[in-house]
Parts: sequence; structure tokens; C-alpha cells
Amino acid sequence: MNKGVKRILVTGGAGFLGSHLCDRLVAQGHDILCVDNLFTGSKSNLVQLMGRPNFEYMRHDVTFPLYVEVDEIYNLACPASPLQYRINPVQTTKTSVHGAINMLGLAKRTGAKILQASTSEVYGDPEIHPQTEEYWGHVNPIGPRACYDEGKRCAETLFFDYHREGRVRIKVARIFNTYGPRMDPADGRVVSNFICQALLGQPITLYGDGAQTRSFCYVDDLIEGLLRLMASDDSNTGPINIGNPDEFTMVELAEMIVALTGSSSPIVMRPLPADDPRQRRPDIGRARAALHWEPTVRLREGLVHAIAYFDGLLRCAGGPSLP
Ligand code: NAD
Ligand code: UDP
Ligand code: UDP
Repeated sequence: MNKGVKRILVTGGAGFLGSHLCDRLVAQGHDILCVDNLFTGSKSNLVQLMGRPNFEYMRHDVTFPLYVEVDEIYNLACPASPLQYRINPVQTTKTSVHGAINMLGLAKRTGAKILQASTSEVYGDPEIHPQTEEYWGHVNPIGPRACYDEGKRCAETLFFDYHREGRVRIKVARIFNTYGPRMDPADGRVVSNFICQALLGQPITLYGDGAQTRSFCYVDDLIEGLLRLMASDDSNTGPINIGNPDEFTMVELAEMIVALTGSSSPIVMRPLPADDPRQRRPDIGRARAALHWEPTVRLREGLVHAIAYFDGLLRCAGGPSLP
């Protein structure tokens, strides 16, 4: 193998973020093994990579052991939308916990560096704002979101124990809400829901009073943050927040999407799901200092790209398009 070419495993590589990550790593010339059980992902996210000599896809569930030889591991396998992780909560916890154990065991045996796609959900419904990495979080351990939140928290615990005891080289990224092309239009996340509803002229479903906030990061910025974290010095274990600190209420998001699509969709209110965090915004001081990273794409600009993607998707599906 050429000098500088790494064998890189991406779990969850057929998903939204994983497929963009595979695109970047394949373009860099590395040898990529994408492992995914297609629970929420799709091979259609990988069509542009199939047949490339430095890309390989394997259908595999990370809750089972995996014996391969690699230099780096990006562990992204896990359903990420509240709608999907509640379909099979036990499998969601298993994926986070057993998946982490297997991938950490693999990292320990091969000496590979391993990055965990953790989440802002480890902060739960946060009592401090914006969220810094020092904050321990405010999570309901028995609620309907717990399978995801607590699974990811336990995965972080495992990462730091393998690091301390097994000297595994770890990187823990706490990813905040990310959006862009290849989001699954049916997975219930707010950006894809609002855009598709606006494009189809359907009512925009605002949960609760819409005063809750999120801070949305465009996918390209997010992937750049993950790549820089993986490339950083071994002392840089994280956890480190990767997200866009520009914060919006869901009402503001709905209004922006209606305006950008020129839609005449009405905004309608629906019940707020249990344990829905009221506010979320990353403090990215650590990422700025350690990785010289910060987002470059403003929400309005990123939404234009996402709207163009969903418009194309809906046209292909034969549905009504931009009003
Ligand atoms: P996604 O659902 O599009 O991708 C997850 C992928 O993991 C899918 O392809 C799915 O089939 C695969 N997968 C699930 N269980 C698996 C298993 N047991 N074995 C093998 N593959 C399995 O979600 P995404 O938005 O791309 O998220 C990717 C990762 O980033 C997840 O770990 C998620 O928790 C994390 N994350 C995402 C966001 C976000 O806003 N997108 C925010 C925080 C954290
Ligand atoms: N494992 C794996 N691939 C490997 C090495 C280990 O999937 O290349 C899994 C294996 O199933 C094991 C787990 O990772 O149970 C944890 O491995 P570790 O070496 O930490 O513990 P042990 O083998 O003692 O359970
Ligand atoms: N949300 C909404 N309408 C929708 C989907 C989601 O108002 O059709 C709200 C949801 O209640 C939450 C926010 O948008 O307050 C973000 O939801 P998402 O599922 O995208 O991400 P998460 O809650 O995991 O941050």
C-alpha cells in the first residue's frame, strides 16, 4: 500500500453523515471499509462510491464482533432521529453499547485510532447554556429518548475506560444537530420534515409552541470537524463539541424555510414529544482552539443546498415540487 494511505473503517457509513464521510475519505485516496446493517441507512447513499477500487461495503451489525485489519475507525453506526431510535429502543442501546465494545476491542487489537460519533444529547435537556464539554448533562434515564441518550453516554464511558486501561487512542466528538443532502426525508428530523412539507404544500408541523431552540450545522462543516479531530494529536481525546453555535427557535426555522421555498404551507402546532430539550447550543471554544475549526456555512445558505436536494428527490419521486 502507498505511504500515507490508511485503511479506514466507517461504521454507519451508509447513513447521512457516514456517506459524506466516506466520500471525503475516498477522495483523499484512503482505503475505505464501510460497515452498515442498513437499519436506517441506504445503499443509495453510496452509489457514487460503488465500484471505486478504494471503497468496499460490508453488510454487518456492529453489535456482533468484527475482525478486520484497519488503521483508523470512525464509529457512526446508530439510528439518530428520535422517530427511528424509538422504533427499536433496545436495539438502539445495544448498537451504542455493544457496538462500542466491539469497535473498541477491534481498536485495541489492531492499535487503530478510533473516533466516536457522540451527541449533544448527552447533555439532555440542558440547564446551562450554551453547553460546554465540562457540563455533565441532565438526562432522564427512563424516558423515551433514554435508549439513545444513555446509550451514547455509556459509549463515552467505554471509550474513556478503554483509553485509560487499554491505552486505546480515542477521539470523542459531541455532534450537534446537522443537516444537508442525504438526510432521510422520512426519518422525522425537523429540517427534512419542514423542507419536504414546504415543498409539498403540506402543513408545517411545529411541535409544542416552537420556542425550543436548536443550532444547525451544515454537513460539510461537520465532516471537516470530524476529519480534523481524527488527524489531531493523540492527547486530544475530546470530548469536543462539533456544531454550529448559531441558535434558532423552531418557529424561526419554519419561517425561514417557508420564505426560502416560497411555500404557502400553513404552520400548524402538534404536541411536543416527551423530554424534548428546550434549548441547545454548542460552546465550540475547544474545537476552535484545538482543531482551528469553526463552521463556515450559515443556516440560510445551507438550507438553500438542502432545499435543492429535497426538491430533486421529490421530483424523482414524481411528487409535486416547488410551488
Ligand atoms: P443515520 O441514521 O443516517 O446513519 C446511521 C447509520 O448507522 C445508518 O446507515 C444505519 O443503517 C447504521 N446502523 C444503525 N445501527 C447499526 C448497527 N447495529 N450496525 C451497523 N450499522 C448500523 O444517522 P446520521 O445522522 O448519519 O448519524 C450518524 C451518527 O452521528 C450516529 O451515531 C448519530 O448518533 C451521530 N449524530 C448525528 C447527529 C445529526 O444531527 N445527524 C447529531 C448527533 C450525533
Ligand atoms: N472484538 C472485535 N474485533 C476484534 C477484537 C475484539 O469485534 O478485532 C470484540 C470481541 O467481541 C470482544 C470485544 O470486542 O468481545 C471486546 O474486546 P476486548 O479485547 O476488549 O475484550 P474481550 O475479548 O476480553 O471480551
Ligand atoms: N420538531 C418539530 N417538528 C417536526 C420535527 C421536529 O417542531 O416536524 C422539533 C422537535 O420537537 C425538536 C426540534 O424540532 O424540538 C428538533 O427535532 P429533531 O428530531 O430534528 O432533533 P432533536 O430533537 O434530536 O434535536
